[in-house]
Amino acid sequence: MEKTCVEVLIIGGGPIGLACGIACEEHQLDYLILEKGVLTNSLFHYPLNMTFFSTSEKLEMGGVPFMSVSHKPTRTEALEYYRRVTEKWRLRVRCYEEVLRLRRNENGTFTVTSSKGVYEAQNLILATGFYDLPNLMGVPGEDLPKVTHYYKEPWPYIGQRVLVVGAGNSAVDAALETYRKGAQVTMVLPGEGIDENVKYWVKPDIENRIKEGSIRAYTQSRVQEILAEEVLLHTPEGEVRVPNDFVLAMTGYRPNFALLDQLGVELSLDEKRQPCFDPDNQESNVPGVYLAGVVCGGLVTRTYFIENSIVHASQIVQHILQKKGAAS
Ligand SMILES: Cc1cc2nc3c(=O)[nH]c(=O)nc-3n(C[C@H](O)[C@H](O)[C@H](O)COP(=O)(O)OP(=O)(O)OC[C@H]3O[C@@H](n4cnc5c(N)ncnc54)[C@H](O)[C@@H]3O)c2cc1C
Repeated sequence: MEKTCVEVLIIGGGPIGLACGIACEEHQLDYLILEKGVLTNSLFHYPLNMTFFSTSEKLEMGGVPFMSVSHKPTRTEALEYYRRVTEKWRLRVRCYEEVLRLRRNENGTFTVTSSKGVYEAQNLILATGFYDLPNLMGVPGEDLPKVTHYYKEPWPYIGQRVLVVGAGNSAVDAALETYRKGAQVTMVLPGEGIDENVKYWVKPDIENRIKEGSIRAYTQSRVQEILAEEVLLHTPEGEVRVPNDFVLAMTGYRPNFALLDQLGVELSLDEKRQPCFDPDNQESNVPGVYLAGVVCGGLVTRTYFIENSIVHASQIVQHILQKKGAAS
């Protein structure tokens, strides 16, 4: 099979992978973006009715204005925005092409094997996000078909007994939406209450529904076991059995470190498992391997957002240009 050679191979066609593509276009670097799913795959899989916490101008890139009906854009508006950005910049993105293996060669270049081909790259940018792997609860019954870690929309839950696990934005959105479509909702909260960082315009809504008893909430509790017709909860008052049809486990997500491991990118030894990189230029401990976007946060997935990661693109490309200048 013939190899395609590029200066920069970007893994991940999320917002930050696209921002890296734009930075390459601006500086005439030869690049390619490989995306395993659809364009902005993570955003595509977000709940249908989700609203971003960022205002639209904070999500802008490449000088393309982001117009949204309200100041906080919706998922659909964001999908359309990033599609337009890709079109305007004629970004070289190959969708439905998953990167499977990465190898650093003796001469410092990289061999990239995807589901569709083999590439030779001088530099790699890993912008693989964190949405592929859910944080599992690790309890019996978690693999039952009635359990999901990816909430999409409320319609399947009309008239059903739904358990929502978690206290963050995703859990709160799922609880309120399903409650308003007639589900009987119970929440399991690991701490004293709803997370402090839940969107400020949503937090009073969920707290008031819990206070008035429309949504039942067990605080300082966790799921112990999931059965076909009920769930067993561990609560401060002891074990509680709750009749149940569906479990929405909104327990967060974690980056897939497999590709980083293949290259020898080091992770911190503490519980954060943060990849090792230079914050001035995003280069990892492996020369020529750069990290961009939310993957940089390791298991602390709230460290990086689209808003504060767009800058990674220009930092990386500046560093690649400096290296190129020094070599010529
Ligand atoms: C519900 C929700 C709401 C959010 N709201 C906001 C907000 O309001 N503002 C904000 O700034 N951030 C928000 N975030 C965070 C933000 O969406 C993410 O930070 C954003 O998607 C990060 O962009 P990224 O490009 O780093 O990663 P991603 O968007 O996750 O992109 C990574 C891409 O890499 C692809 N990929 C992974 N592995 C491979 C592989 N092996 N081969 C090829 N492709 C691969 C994935 O398919 C994916 O498309 C939110 C997150 C969630 C979950």
